[in-house]
Amino acid sequence: MFKSAVFNLEEASKEQFQEFLNSFDTVLSDCDGVLWINNNAIPGSADVMNYFRKLGKRVFYVTNNSTKIRADFAVKAQELGFIAEPEEILSTAYLVAHYLKGIGFKKKVYLIGSNGIGDELKAVGIRHTGVGPDNVKPDFKSMTQADLDPEVGAVVVGFDEHVSYPKFMKAASYLANDECLFVATNTDERFPKSTSIIVPGTGTLVRAVETCSERKALVLGKPNDYVRKFLESFGLDPARTLMIGDRCNTDIEFGVRCGFQTLLVLTGVTSTKDLEKMRTERKQPLPDVVLPKLEFGEKGCLQRRARPQG
Ligand SMILES: [Mg+2]
Repeated sequence: MFKSAVFNLEEASKEQFQEFLNSFDTVLSDCDGVLWINNNAIPGSADVMNYFRKLGKRVFYVTNNSTKIRADFAVKAQELGFIAEPEEILSTAYLVAHYLKGIGFKKKVYLIGSNGIGDELKAVGIRHTGVGPDNVKPDFKSMTQADLDPEVGAVVVGFDEHVSYPKFMKAASYLANDECLFVATNTDERFPKSTSIIVPGTGTLVRAVETCSERKALVLGKPNDYVRKFLESFGLDPARTLMIGDRCNTDIEFGVRCGFQTLLVLTGVTSTKDLEKMRTERKQPLPDVVLPKLEFGEKGCLQRRARPQG
């Protein structure tokens, strides 16, 4: 309806806003930077998401975060005020397990990741090498074939705060075998920031393993369209789906690639300044509509327009 127009929904007329609300049946929302930052809900976002549900929209939470299992994500969402069930959470940890199970993978996974992926793999009966620090000899250069597990048939890379040089050595060594699969959760450069400290994202690790293995990972998270393929099995209609995100190069790119409508909020990674620059340069992907935040605020059109409907 507002194809790549970067239309500010706050400026929509009542009719335009109603038309917008009527134009989708399914809402996919990113989490970090849209609904919450770390463990703090972004004020008003739960009201909006719960209101969509009240209108009869189907809601899915689509996150590139791989550190939690779906049930734990659902609990976090619920504690922050969102109505959410585990089956509505599409996290990359779950997608990795779903993908490997779907292709009938029977071997073991060498995992650069955390408990989220480990537990989702375990839940579908796929073995992995474990999480946490890799306690190899201090002299990593003495690593030999004996340090590698012959049963490993895939390297999976997600967020891993214990990432290390020995882990990169092992991953690259497994991947020297062309038959070893190489799967990654996402390539986000950084986490949404709430302070001036930069927290490197999973993309940092994926690029490192791609570099030392001289291979390209199959990436399952946004902006890749594995999520769309997954949701189409539930009857998703891309043209009547809204993707909400805070980041143009993952969330909005994902929405554009999948043929969804897109709503950018400015509470996370992509700033007003970034968006202005993209707009001036007509740099894609541009969102269809934009809001400063996902909120039923006094100035927020969602409240102003939605109240009389509700
Ligand atoms: Mg985000």
